[in-house]
Amino acid sequence: MTFELTILGSSSAIPTSERYPTAQVLNLLERFFLIDCGEGTQIQLRRMKFSFDRIRHIFISHLHGDHFYGLPGFISTRNLLGITTDIHIYAPADLKKLLRPLLNYMKGDMGFQIVFHPLNHQNPELIYSDEKSEVHSFPLNHSIPCCGFLFREKRHPANLIREKIEQYRIPVSQLRPIKGGADFTTGTGEVIPHTGLTIPPPPTRSYAFCTDTAFYEPAADFIRGVDMLYHEATFLSEPENRASGTFHSTARQAAEMALKSHANKLILGHFSTRYKTTAPFLAEAQAIFGNTEIASDGARFTIPLQKNAGQN
Ligand SMILES: [Zn+2]
Repeated sequence: MTFELTILGSSSAIPTSERYPTAQVLNLLERFFLIDCGEGTQIQLRRMKFSFDRIRHIFISHLHGDHFYGLPGFISTRNLLGITTDIHIYAPADLKKLLRPLLNYMKGDMGFQIVFHPLNHQNPELIYSDEKSEVHSFPLNHSIPCCGFLFREKRHPANLIREKIEQYRIPVSQLRPIKGGADFTTGTGEVIPHTGLTIPPPPTRSYAFCTDTAFYEPAADFIRGVDMLYHEATFLSEPENRASGTFHSTARQAAEMALKSHANKLILGHFSTRYKTTAPFLAEAQAIFGNTEIASDGARFTIPLQKNAGQN
């Protein structure tokens, strides 16, 4: 029941000797979602031992180079490894135009398809869904069209209370509906509510990715109550606020977004290379939002599954 974020790259526009450009992997119940794909992503994936085959869904926030220049290398290596599973890329529509000539050139020996899904930059949209998870995109406020992403578990099934199942002699065929919220009617017509037969499921977990963007209040409504929020903090507020006018955020603004959205935890990243250390970013954010951490390449952040009373 893993829900774990791994930071592959946490620098802003320019890579440094310690930080690659933006890329992350979210392991959501063994789905390995790649979020942005800055240059060097494939090296970080290998370093952190992620299977290239397991990466089948890639989410690209916007088309500044530090967020997608890693795609050609990743795609090429995935092909050289003999992988044949298709990949889906959720990105601004222009990405297809940019990559297509390169893909056409490689096409002769490409062992898999690449399916492009254009993002909606006007409104939030459900862009991925399977039986256990879903992903939404939502607009941000950057110098070019840019989307954030919200990753969510779907509701877990409730846990059956075995004694009750035996007591009412409930047939096996009814167990799945009851776990999903259906009541049970006995042979004599008595309705047993599912709440009397099950222990409520653990709360679902969620993760929001917000980069690159100026402070953008509408996003707070969309990600309200998120368990973990990654928000860019390219600049500090002092001594000179360079965020305003560049469509980026300060550490203080990232913390304000965490506060306004009622996030449980904030992770700061996308630091400008003009700063030598991240300690002032942490201090600036924590003055507003205590549960803040700094992203560093290779760092992992887990959201544990909470258990309800009575579960084992
Ligand atoms: Zn950008």
